Formats: sequence, C-alpha cells, structure tokens
Amino acid sequence: MAAMIDRRAALEDGAIDPNVVKKQLIAAYPTKVARKRAKQIVINKEGEVPEIAANTRAIPGIITQRGCAYAGCKGVVLGPTRDFVNLTHGPIGCGFYSWLTRRNQTRPPTAEDPNFMTYCFSTDLQDENIVFGGEKKLRAAIQEAYDIFKPKAISVFSTCPVGLIGDDVHNVAKEMKEKLGINVFAFSCEGYKGVSQSAGHHIANNGIFKHVVGLDDTAPKEGKFRVNMLGEYNIGGDAFEIDRVLEKCGITPVATFSGNSTYDQFARAHTADLNAIMCHRSINYVAEMMEKKFGIPWIKINFIGAKSAAKSLRKIAKYFDDQELTDRVEEVIAEEMVEVEKVQAEIRKRCEGKLAMLFVGGSRAHHYQDLFAEMGMKTISAGYEFAHRDDYEGRKVLPGIKIDADSRNIEELEVHPDPDRYRPRKSAEQIEELAAKGFFFKDYEGMMAQMAEGTLVIDDISQYETERMIEIYKPAIFCAGIKEKYAIQKKGIPMKQLHSYDTGGPYAGFKGAVNFYEEIDRMVNSKVWSYLKAPWQTNPELAATYACQ
Ligand code: SF4
Repeated sequence: MAAMIDRRAALEDGAIDPNVVKKQLIAAYPTKVARKRAKQIVINKEGEVPEIAANTRAIPGIITQRGCAYAGCKGVVLGPTRDFVNLTHGPIGCGFYSWLTRRNQTRPPTAEDPNFMTYCFSTDLQDENIVFGGEKKLRAAIQEAYDIFKPKAISVFSTCPVGLIGDDVHNVAKEMKEKLGINVFAFSCEGYKGVSQSAGHHIANNGIFKHVVGLDDTAPKEGKFRVNMLGEYNIGGDAFEIDRVLEKCGITPVATFSGNSTYDQFARAHTADLNAIMCHRSINYVAEMMEKKFGIPWIKINFIGAKSAAKSLRKIAKYFDDQELTDRVEEVIAEEMVEVEKVQAEIRKRCEGKLAMLFVGGSRAHHYQDLFAEMGMKTISAGYEFAHRDDYEGRKVLPGIKIDADSRNIEELEVHPDPDRYRPRKSAEQIEELAAKGFFFKDYEGMMAQMAEGTLVIDDISQYETERMIEIYKPAIFCAGIKEKYAIQKKGIPMKQLHSYDTGGPYAGFKGAVNFYEEIDRMVNSKVWSYLKAPWQTNPELAATYACQ
C-alpha cells in the first residue's frame, strides 16, 4: 500500500517521466524492433493528439496479446447468435479452443427456441483432407448439421489451411443453400488474413451484410424509436441491461449486433431508424453500409459508465427529438442514479486516486476509463490489441490512413442506395439543425482525446512491456485478458479481465456500473495482496525466532 501511495506521489511530482519509461520499455529490443515499437508507444498530449502506429503486423516472437481473423469473425461477431449453426471448417483446434470461451449470454424466449451456442461444430479436417481437399467433408458436415438441428442458417468459417489448400467454401455454401432451402454462407476468415482479429470483424461485417441484413422487410416488433445496438456482444449480460434501460425509456431495440441475437433480427435490422455503436472497431463497417444502402444514420454511444449511459440515452433522445421521450429519459436517469450515487460515494472513500492500466481489444480500453473515473481512479496507461488509428486518434484521421500490404486483401464492399428501400431518416436540413446544436453523426473522437497529459498509450503491448509497466508504476489494478492474468497477479497486482469479466457482469448501464464499482473496490482493497511475501521474508528476526523454535 505504501508503495502505491509513493508511486502516485512520484507521478504527481513528475518524478516518473513517461519519456524515460518509454526509453526503458524499448531499450531491451534489437534496433529494428525498438524503432517499430517506438511508433506504437506514444505519450499522450492533451488537446493535441499525437500519431500512433496501429493495425500493423505483430513482431514475431514478442508475445503479443493478439488473436487471428477467425477469432474476430467467428468468435466475436457471429458467435453470439443463437440460431445459426456456426461451422468451423478446419482441424479441430480452432473450434475447440473457441468453444464457449467468450461469455456471450443468450436468452431464448422459450425452451423450444433453438440455441446452438453451447455446441462446437467442426469439420475436424484430417491429413487426407489437406492432401485431397476438404470440400466433400464440408458438404457432408453441412448436411449432417441440417439433418440433426434444422437451423435457420448455417455459416461456415475458414481456418488457416482452408485458404492454403484452395477449398472453395463459398461455392459449397451456395450449392448447399440451393439443396437445403435454408441460408448457407461462408466466410474466408483464415487466421493469417490481416494482422489480428480486426480483419475477421471486417470479413464478418461484409458477410452478414451481404447474406442476411435486409432479407425480411416485415417489422413485427411494435414500438416507437426503433434502434439497433451495434457492437454489443452481451458479455456477462451487458446487452440485457442495455435493453432493460432502453425499454424503460420507451426506446425499441430492433437488433443487437450480435449479443443475444437471432437470424431474424439481422434480417430485419434495416427497418430500424438509428444505429447506435458501442464497439466502433468491430462493427463500424455494417453501420456505414446500412447508411449507404438504407439511409439509417449512425451515432457513437457508450453504455459503460453510469454517466456515459446517461449521456448516450440523452443523445438517442435528441436524435428522435420527441418531448415525451426526452422527459422519460430524464426520469429514468434520475431514478437509476440514486443507487449509483449511493454506491459511488461509499467506494470512493477507498478507491479515490488509485491507478489503473487497461490493455484490451479494440474498444474497452477506452470505455472502461469512464467507469474508473467515476470511482475517482486514474488511468495512467492504456492501449488496444487490434484497434486502428481512428479508434485511438478519432475518425478525423481516416482519410490519412494508408492500408498496408497485410490488410489489402480484406474486401471493401461497394454499396449503393437500395432503389426501393433507401429512405433517409433525417433530411439535410434536420442534420444541419442538429449539427448547430452540437449533435454530429459518425462522430468518434477516439480514446486518446479523453486521456490525460503524460499518460502512455501502447498499441499491441508485449508481455515484456506489460511486466516492465507494472514494475515501474505499480498500478492498483491492471485490466487485460486471461493470458495476462496470472503473470500479473503473481507480481502482486490485482488483475481484472475485461474480456470475460472473470465470472462477473453485467458492467454496462446503471446496474452494471454498481456491479463494477463493488467488484473493483473488493479487488484493489483485498488483504490478499499483503500476504504475497512470507512473514520471514519481510522480517528476518521472525525467521530467526522460527529457527530457534
Ligand atoms: S490462427 Fe489459424 S489455426 Fe490458429 S485459431 Fe486462427 S484460424 Fe485457427
């Protein structure tokens, strides 16, 4: 504890100079590696966001946190949909290791409704399939899955060897679609595409947009203020909490991409009047394409943090510009904040001023800073595994981003307005009017604009850098994933998983904020961290006493 307080004081005095820390982090690397990492480790400046290198190839052997395109496509975007059969085409590893390891929750309305999320479907390719091709086995697997489960749709996910041996998964899917009379489509999301999960998100967005969105023009769900929640994957029940709050305000959730989602939700998503984006990285492509084809505008929102949730609800109300909705939103916020403020006041006594570090995926390292700020905690360093420059620096840098050779093979779909169904939800005058009031569409200013001067922003952090950072700063809490968790805890630093939430959640919305405050308070103030050293390591006299006895 004393060490933590000293570190804080040192930071405030400027005794820990981030420029020196950056030099220390890269000093151990060979020159070429150090040069590359130097561009991915930047010292944040308030009011003038510096450029960061992101979405570039990971350095071989550096122990990256990253996963692959298959993980981004099958694991992240399509995995949380309960009534698709998600079939992995490849050897057994990819499907097995991604089987139920993301905590996407789902809630079928009745026990009879399909839910395939608990299964792991794989073609389990063997040596002879690599030699002679796996298309025959894929056809048979699709047929078998159909015969047993009669799903609404089957999607096929390619793993590394599939692209190398030249299996035409798209043609097999087309054939089987005609044969079975259900929607069957495939993704070329081989693990080596792009440089991280990010390529898989893009491939998934393209596929779901091309094959499912807009297939059903009926909008059976009654209700005003129809909104899609994009990039919300219902980890630990986050989407349930968001839907609860939206519905309490009188806002109608149409589709969630893709927490607790179904095939029909995607097929009818184009009937909504607004797309609200939680995770910008994984889903902005679908939002852009839905706007071009159907005229649905998108806005960035954030339901992580009670204040951010309130701000997001107000933003949605402003978009619909309806007095009744605006009043209702204020009522709901006032009601929900009572409990939030009560718990906040209590935990702040124990958490105020403590330091946090966040190195997670492509959006949470930003969103969760709001929750820590509400607890009075300071984010001293943060970064993403696979975000792009626009997630760090804001969308204003988009025109200047050059797509490098590693990402050039990810298809950009050409999308045009639908001749019959394109309907702009806001006129040019309304958009101008909203802009005059400070309301902008497609507006995301990125993580760095919100971070304090002198904080370290690190893209694709390595294991070595992780360990150096915790030795130097001794943060009160470090947030990352399962691979980092135990190495960090062994160094005596509380570690919160912000992918799986450990076993907790929800952390979104108002109830989620309360859960998070309580959980972090429990972790950072636990006595367990003071027991890491045996008594005789800190007090040699005691050792001598034991020896005498
Ligand atoms: S990198 Fe290739 S083999 Fe590994 S999980 Fe991804 S798709 Fe499977």
